[in-house]
Amino acid sequence: MDHFLYRDGTLHAEDVPVADIARAVGTPFYCYSTATLTRHFKLFDEALSGMDHLVCYAMKANSNQAVLKLMAGLGAGVDVVSGGEYARARAAGFDGDKIVFSGVGKTHEEMRAALTGGIRQFNLESEPEMRRLNKVALELGVVAPVTVRVNPDVDAKTHEKIATGKSENKFGIPIARAAEVYAEIATLPGLKAVGIDVHIGSQLTDLEPFRQAYRKVAALTAELRAQGHDIIRLDLGGGLGIPYERSNEAPPLPLEYGQMVQEELGDLGCEIEIEPGRLIAGNAGILVSEVTYVKSGEGRDFLIVDAAMNDLVRPAMYSAHHDIVPVVEPAAAAEQQPYDIVGPVCETGDTFAKQRNLTQLAEGDLIAFRSAGAYGAVMASEYNSRPLIPEVLVKDDQFAVIRPRPTYQEMIDRDVLPVWL
Ligand SMILES: *Cc1c(COP(=O)(O)O)cnc(C)c1O
Repeated sequence: MDHFLYRDGTLHAEDVPVADIARAVGTPFYCYSTATLTRHFKLFDEALSGMDHLVCYAMKANSNQAVLKLMAGLGAGVDVVSGGEYARARAAGFDGDKIVFSGVGKTHEEMRAALTGGIRQFNLESEPEMRRLNKVALELGVVAPVTVRVNPDVDAKTHEKIATGKSENKFGIPIARAAEVYAEIATLPGLKAVGIDVHIGSQLTDLEPFRQAYRKVAALTAELRAQGHDIIRLDLGGGLGIPYERSNEAPPLPLEYGQMVQEELGDLGCEIEIEPGRLIAGNAGILVSEVTYVKSGEGRDFLIVDAAMNDLVRPAMYSAHHDIVPVVEPAAAAEQQPYDIVGPVCETGDTFAKQRNLTQLAEGDLIAFRSAGAYGAVMASEYNSRPLIPEVLVKDDQFAVIRPRPTYQEMIDRDVLPVWL
């Protein structure tokens, strides 16, 4: 459930008419709902309420400072995957002991920054990384809390670009080799193992792959404890999917996920961490765009809109579906027709949807791409010299621009000419 609903014949974000925001900030723009973000965090928090737990928002899904500050205020932890994200998390008010550092390529500098600024744990993904972190910690005279991200070799049954738990993926250490790695960690004075980490992919629409992975983690917990390791924390990753196509998708709910976690891991006495990103932010955001032209092609009509693949890359990159709705509510009986919905960028890949049925639209009409709050703004670029589009946060009947649209001059001024030109 989200808070983007028709009211009085027009789409609202909470209590604000989307058209009012469009008038104030221009199109295209992202719009997020405070109530939906809050609700989604609380769903996870409540789903794990029977266990000692921390919901660590995977900020790569949407890392705007306002969204982070909202999450920090709700008591969330945060999962970061780069030095930039670590800096953002700290700036938004997350204490170091609420920050989990994930990612396969953490650099010396990133480790140093996190060890200096405070860290809950590093999720290690390889032995070279383990040895590097040990070295950095010793240089600083501290002990780094770590988990090892294990690769359980399960098929997450999701898009190949966002599946991470198969043995051929670059992530984690094969679970069969985990005991060896924990044994080495025990010999490294700069590291202290506190738990196990697993994350098998994103946009999972079935609980079964999670269950298989968590069973393997439970078995590994027992094995490592028997070998004398102190496993007090299990980081279960993120990945729960959302219904991008509302008419025919119903992925499991956080409550069902929480029950499964309780069943598989509840009696190990571990603190449970989860790292949801998409489910918290995805349906908490829309991308609003204006129809620039309606163009009749050979046997098909194109809606050329002012948003493009540089603003929302998911359809081009993952063949992702986003529901698209007109901002003015169509009459219930209004006839629909198929449109190809495309942006202005000079690539055929700049296609949001093909032969999508919509009621008739005209130049100047506003449309909204639903489920655009996660992996939307954060993946945007300025391809075709289209400045990054603004982000807006709504709360009840208020809205605020939380990232303004740069002017062309600001975009140009980021480049620096060499002296010889
Ligand atoms: C991307 C990622 C997440 C979040 O995944 P979602 O599908 O957005 O919930 C969590 N943990 C790690 C390590 C990730 O890489």
